[in-house]
Amino acid sequence: MDLKKEQLADRIAGIIIMIFLLIPQYWSTQYVFNANDKSELVWIAWAYALGIDSAILYFTWKGWIKVALIYMAVSFAHNISYHLSPESIGAIFLISSCSPATIFAVGHLYLHRKAKHKKDTKTDPIPEKVWQIYKAISKGIFFEAQPFRCPECNETFSDKRKLNGHITAHKKSNEWKPENYGDWELENHQRYQSL
Ligand SMILES: [Zn+2]
Repeated sequence: MDLKKEQLADRIAGIIIMIFLLIPQYWSTQYVFNANDKSELVWIAWAYALGIDSAILYFTWKGWIKVALIYMAVSFAHNISYHLSPESIGAIFLISSCSPATIFAVGHLYLHRKAKHKKDTKTDPIPEKVWQIYKAISKGIFFEAQPFRCPECNETFSDKRKLNGHITAHKKSNEWKPENYGDWELENHQRYQSL
């Protein structure tokens, strides 16, 4: 299976697993909310559950792993309340603290990221190398991107076919040791994708 198909298959499998597991998770959370809510509006409980349990997905997707782990604990607490005592002081504390905490976490992390990003773009100077290349291009010098790197000798190539020819030469002279190279094909693919 090629890399793109494999990534797509991984993604589809991941989405299917998440859909299956989120259904009972949303159910437990809305049940705990509903057991203690005075509004008697079912949709409010569902809005609460969708917000709280989707937070894990959101934080994981953003790469905020520590916060995602906290939300895993939050979902766990809802499950325990659902199974043991939906109508309890513990459950009331849980649902009372989770909404404001989630609103705070999403708002704070988003603003924090934004401020950091602003700072990054302000302080990062353009590297000298980039200026050299820019000057050369404006004088008509041609550059070719070479994202494909040989893991044995580090020589770079503009396309995969050239790299494969080069690797064949390594193999013929017994210099090809794939067990030493790690995930070099993925690294090449990522460099190529970033073009
Ligand atoms: Zn090589």
